[in-house]
Amino acid sequence: MVKPDGVQRGLVGEIITRFEKKGFKLTGLKLFQCSKDLAEEHYKDLKGKSFFPKLIDYITSGPVVCMAWEGVGVVASARKLIGSTDPLKAEPGTIRGDLAVQIGRNIVHGSDSPENGKCEIGLWFNEAEIVQWTPAQAAWLRE
Ligand code: UDP
Ligand code: MG
Repeated sequence: MVKPDGVQRGLVGEIITRFEKKGFKLTGLKLFQCSKDLAEEHYKDLKGKSFFPKLIDYITSGPVVCMAWEGVGVVASARKLIGSTDPLKAEPGTIRGDLAVQIGRNIVHGSDSPENGKCEIGLWFNEAEIVQWTPAQAAWLRE
């Protein structure tokens, strides 16, 4: 998901491009204004942390771009492409390492396990918004 700062800073295309170029398949995409309830459900594991109220304000502060990506090892690979939570510690070449400077403005969210990925797709998308399709390049990506 591109967070509100990524949308406001005009980085949606850049972020989508990185996942596309890697070879993952886009199966869901939408611009969406997140409610406080959805934000709290999405980040429920972090409830109680000192930064939680600010995180909820941040994530609901403007539209986000929800994305569902599919591919071999996509969750672990996406986390690598995204980089460390703190952009100042994220390696150059990663999305956060190249494009952000602060943990509270780290421009993108990525699921941390395949199970959570499935849960989050269920939370952010309706069934009809997830589209199964075969990219023309499929045979050139995997033997
Ligand atoms: N966050 C923050 N301060 C912290 C830790 C996290 O503002 O000290 C925010 C940050 O936006 C982060 C989000 O909370 O992306 C979720 O935290 P998590 O540990 O799940 O990091 P992520 O999975 O996004 O790398
Ligand atoms: Mg996380």
